[in-house]
Amino acid sequence: MPFIDIPESVRYLISRLQQNGYRAYAVGGCVRDSLLQKTPDDWDICTSALPQQTLDTLQMPNIIENGLRHGTVTIRYQGQNYEITTFRTDGAYVDNRRPSSVTFVADVKEDLLRRDFTINALAYNDQEGLIDYFNGREDLQQGIIRCVGNADERFQEDGLRIMRALRFASRFGFHIASDTAAAIHRNAELLKNISAERIHSELDKLLIGQNAEAVLSEFSDVLAVVIPEITPMIGFDQRNPHHAFDVWTHTVKAVANTPPERILRLAALFHDIGKPSAFTLDEKGVGHFKRHAFLGEEITHTVLRRLRYDNRTIAQVSQLVLLHDDHPSLKNKSVRRFLSKTGENLWRELLQLQKADFNAKGVPVTEEAAAYFDKLYALCVEEASSQTAYTLKRLAVNGKDLIALGIKDGMLIGQILSELLECVIEGTLTNEREILLEKAREIAARGR
Ligand code: ATP
Ligand code: MG
Repeated sequence: MPFIDIPESVRYLISRLQQNGYRAYAVGGCVRDSLLQKTPDDWDICTSALPQQTLDTLQMPNIIENGLRHGTVTIRYQGQNYEITTFRTDGAYVDNRRPSSVTFVADVKEDLLRRDFTINALAYNDQEGLIDYFNGREDLQQGIIRCVGNADERFQEDGLRIMRALRFASRFGFHIASDTAAAIHRNAELLKNISAERIHSELDKLLIGQNAEAVLSEFSDVLAVVIPEITPMIGFDQRNPHHAFDVWTHTVKAVANTPPERILRLAALFHDIGKPSAFTLDEKGVGHFKRHAFLGEEITHTVLRRLRYDNRTIAQVSQLVLLHDDHPSLKNKSVRRFLSKTGENLWRELLQLQKADFNAKGVPVTEEAAAYFDKLYALCVEEASSQTAYTLKRLAVNGKDLIALGIKDGMLIGQILSELLECVIEGTLTNEREILLEKAREIAARGR
């Protein structure tokens, strides 16, 4: 019998319910993660006690009222929240997402039957050990995502499960069982009924998973339901000697080449989304993609907004897409200009994206080209840690200094500051206060 190390607080809650004659288990993700030797984020409990009975037994406040109707009590104990849900079956599903009603049941097996995948349909307590009606433990050991019951029906009940299957496969490096995978492809359109917020939160987790490459390749049709803009990328032949792969295959490899961080992986996913519409063929039959980064930025913006990403994410990812093909020469001046576009915060990500992109082209690279990114990185570090300026913020003078010189016109102040920055970036002036003030006076006099 496997031993799962339940935290003391969870053990206490379970035993209080048991002492009052109810059955209670740790259930779902926490059992799965424990068997995988991963520390669970949270511990959910399921019980035969009705919600009010749970509250009466534990004598702890229910801190989130609206779960009660679905049988969930959220109590706070020793600084942590715990969801305690009455065993239930789900009534008929409306809108492929929510059950129209839930029915409380006495048997844990019925509760496990409504859960999405065998690896999530596990329950445990110290007295009875692992409750595993659907071979979830074996699927965990073999690394398989498999629906509980009929896969088509389970996805039709709740389309979000399609994204959840991809997310778990990516996160754990698991394989999706063939009947479950076939049902995913067949039912992918159901994702159209799922809210943008839920889609994007699953997409984020999918992208940062260890197995994102395989999942994105195998399920590109599914992703294309939630992001139709990727459809032209799939199989798009670049007809260019610098690219061995079609746009989608290259994209997936670029995603896999970036460190597993949300912003970077989103940027990698979208970096070439402008390519199909930018494609031109020259007289030699070679493909070109002029301005694809600009078009890509626009498409990225549209997609991320539709998926209701927050403004900061939209701005950062779009900016990375816009600049992904911007390769400065290895001179300080060019590097400062490059940094002036990314600002203080995004240049490391941009370099990681560019390197990932470069290494995903599938063609042999020269040593010089391979060394480029390391040299560029070193130059960026040098510039970023020097006294020089590539943003207005780093300039040794600011608006107030110019006002102190007697320059009152706001527009002129703005113009002078950008001209000073331009000179510092170009290297014609050093970023020192006195030098810049002198130049400011000169420009102001010229302006009068
Ligand atoms: P995570 O590590 O992301 O929290 P999780 O499996 O715990 O993964 P939750 O969304 O917290 O996911 O759900 C807890 C449990 O509830 C799942 O393990 C599963 O048993 C069940 N569950 C969650 N969402 C669904 C769903 N859409 N359909 C069926 N069962 C679900
Ligand atoms: Mg969970």
